[in-house]
Amino acid sequence: MGSLFDDAIGNLDMAAEYVSVEPEVIERLKHPKCALEMNIPVRMDDGSLQIFRGFRVRHNDSRGPTKGGIRFHPNVSLDEVKTLAFWMTVKCAVVGIPLGGGKGGVIVDPKQLSRMEVERLSRGYIRQAVDFIGPHTDIPAPDVYTNPMIMGWMMDEYSKLQRQHSPAVITGKPVSMGGSLGRDDATARGGYFCVKELEAMKHWEPKNITVAVQGFGNAGQHIASLLHADGYKVVAVSDSQGGIHSKEGFDVPSLIYAKLDTKKVKAVYCEGSVCEAVPAEHITNEELLELDVDILIPAALENVITDKNASAIKAKYILELANGPVTGHADTILQKNDVVVIPDILANAGGVTVSYFEWVQNKNGLYWGLDEVHQRLHAIMTREFKCVYSIMQEHGISMRTAAYVHALSRLNDAIFAQGTQRYFAESTG
Ligand code: NAD
Repeated sequence: MGSLFDDAIGNLDMAAEYVSVEPEVIERLKHPKCALEMNIPVRMDDGSLQIFRGFRVRHNDSRGPTKGGIRFHPNVSLDEVKTLAFWMTVKCAVVGIPLGGGKGGVIVDPKQLSRMEVERLSRGYIRQAVDFIGPHTDIPAPDVYTNPMIMGWMMDEYSKLQRQHSPAVITGKPVSMGGSLGRDDATARGGYFCVKELEAMKHWEPKNITVAVQGFGNAGQHIASLLHADGYKVVAVSDSQGGIHSKEGFDVPSLIYAKLDTKKVKAVYCEGSVCEAVPAEHITNEELLELDVDILIPAALENVITDKNASAIKAKYILELANGPVTGHADTILQKNDVVVIPDILANAGGVTVSYFEWVQNKNGLYWGLDEVHQRLHAIMTREFKCVYSIMQEHGISMRTAAYVHALSRLNDAIFAQGTQRYFAESTG
């Protein structure tokens, strides 16, 4: 198997068959603009020194400053960060926001660190990246195992180094530090708007639609909650320790209450602060993926649906809230089996869209109400969902390829506007 990055950029060649695009545009997108590798020294609570390896990649800034999250996870690698940055370039183009793609990460298991060690690591990351990021160059945000408080520390460190308050350098901050209302559930809400479009097209009755969610963090909890509130039946959820399943469906607010209280996914029903255990089957993450449900929502990490398990997937729809949960080979198998995949570059674009809103508000110093954020997000997600859906129908291709076609046409316009071989050849020839 090639690298994650090679697997990801394969989608460009596939999409290029359906859109008129300059060959150099594809070539440009196959090579990230620049990458920073860093070693971050952190003084641990016991007085010892530990060095953590970190990365920041700016993939492409033809459409605007690069933008993308910072991940704290033991499996972070340069290949993974490059791939995530590439997906950000494509994602911003899919939803038509004026930003490029970037991403960052640190190889660390944050669960093994004290809160003060995480703060020192977060500030150390910014001290190393200070000349690489900036409100007009590269704007980080949260990702797996990073959160608003970490974004707040990072913004504070950057502001100290610049000797000026710089809220627009990072998004996903606490609202009290310049964060946007609606950023907390934006990734899930964007995916939810995609489901609502499908619901209208397919005339779904939510109470008859079953949903399984892998990953019960920011993206997973919020999508489960939004769908549950609309009457969808959330029959399975999981986290890194495993999952639970109940044919009757769960009371999602109770699951969230228990998860936040105990850090565990537990089948409970809560009234006030009293939670009672309810019957449920314990399942593994692998079993969750293969459940017979209508909508499967991977909301944890990449590469969980591969050529090994793709033919066992029974869900009719997959909403990719995680980035890259389905490998290229698996995608082909799913398509053959008529599983509709709403691809990550569309399904989880609500996060970067509201991050963009946050950046705009920070630059203007004028803040929007929650309704305005939701309305603007709804307008973008439904407009772009419809566009991608119609490209899919027009060419008889997967929704993923259609989303790449849509993005490539916007990226082509931006890169072409700077001049390609065709332009220069015409002027000299
Ligand atoms: P998070 O840290 O809040 O939650 C991650 C969840 O995944 C946790 O519940 C964790 O227990 C679970 N998990 C970890 N390893 C697992 C495993 N092996 N099997 C099953 N579950 C596992 O992270 P998040 O922000 O919710 O991000 C989840 C996914 O969504 C990532 O792929 C991320 O790139 C993507 N995403 C997030 C945002 C955002 O705004 N947070 C935006 C776009 C995409």
